[in-house]
Amino acid sequence: MLLRLRQPSTESDRRSVLDLCRETGYRVLDLNEETGFLRLEGEGDPSHRSRFEDLTAVQSVVHAGGARELHERRVGQADSQVEVGAARFGGGCVSLIAGPCAVESRDRLIEIALAARDAGATVLRGGAWKPRTSPYSFQGLGREGLELLAEARAASGLPVVTEVLDPRDVQAVGEFADMFQVGSRNMANSALLFELGRQSKPVLLKRGMAATAREFLLAAEYMLAGGNSAVVLCERGVRGFDSVTRNLLDVGAVAWLKATSHLPVLVDPSHAAGRASLVRPLARAGLVCGADGLIVEVHPETSEVHSDGAQALSFGELRTVAADMRALCGLDGRAFMETVEPPTRGETPTDQPLATAPLVD
Ligand code: PEP
Ligand code: MN
Repeated sequence: MLLRLRQPSTESDRRSVLDLCRETGYRVLDLNEETGFLRLEGEGDPSHRSRFEDLTAVQSVVHAGGARELHERRVGQADSQVEVGAARFGGGCVSLIAGPCAVESRDRLIEIALAARDAGATVLRGGAWKPRTSPYSFQGLGREGLELLAEARAASGLPVVTEVLDPRDVQAVGEFADMFQVGSRNMANSALLFELGRQSKPVLLKRGMAATAREFLLAAEYMLAGGNSAVVLCERGVRGFDSVTRNLLDVGAVAWLKATSHLPVLVDPSHAAGRASLVRPLARAGLVCGADGLIVEVHPETSEVHSDGAQALSFGELRTVAADMRALCGLDGRAFMETVEPPTRGETPTDQPLATAPLVD
């Protein structure tokens, strides 16, 4: 491990570095008094980097050496794969999650679930609890929404992912959901992350809208350290300076996360785009940068949507996104997991043929 010490630092602050070295079994190889670089040798443990970073005398951990955190990819390490029903994320498998932003009514949810499945989605999304920016906006149906999700699962055969906002609801949500969702506004809710670390069901962790990629990975680390290894990261755009898109889809982070971590990475082009016409190109960009799947919002009647209507795909647009996924997976040699067969040869595979459709309209 290579540390950079704060210059100057007090003797007692420096002593605490040596105390921690002793406690964790590191041997000091070299200290350059001029630059403050301290080189250590020892067995790595996932907790070491953060413990050294927390010391007053340590300005930064320049290189963590063997102190690998649980999310980190070792040289040559294969992807972790997370399965939810027929969906597989990672390890060359790509899957589509689709559904409404929020659970609104039984009939609408089942209609969307069937259309999502027929388009090629293998997981149904839908918020029962909605973390809205304004307390006056629709907050979701709560427990009733969970029951409707269970009905939609029975009708469509699709497993469901839904957001949990509060550690006290984890048990209840876990009784209905096949996968927990942690939303952007809760990425750093350590009480929630602790609780989800104790669960065995997979977790879809969305990046906080102002979180660095490292903060994002450390949020995942909470759950890995708690014993839940089925964590899927989701890039959904960060705060940008321009309002032409709702958020700035950080495709660079997608590529970086895939290289740095063995965890599956999804892209949510819906919350990044903020409007349906931009979802398709962002979805394609995410997949090209290595995303292991997409989560998109879909609704047949935007005038009736309770939340995020502008970004909802129509059923036809969803089929187009799924067709893109098949095509791009084919180019990459990856497998697009779907429960239903794609349209047979001769039929139009998409409402907007790839060769002629503009990416943005
Ligand atoms: C959502 O998925 O509906 C949602 C609220 O997303 P985010 O947490 O990314 O804003
Ligand atoms: Mn939404």
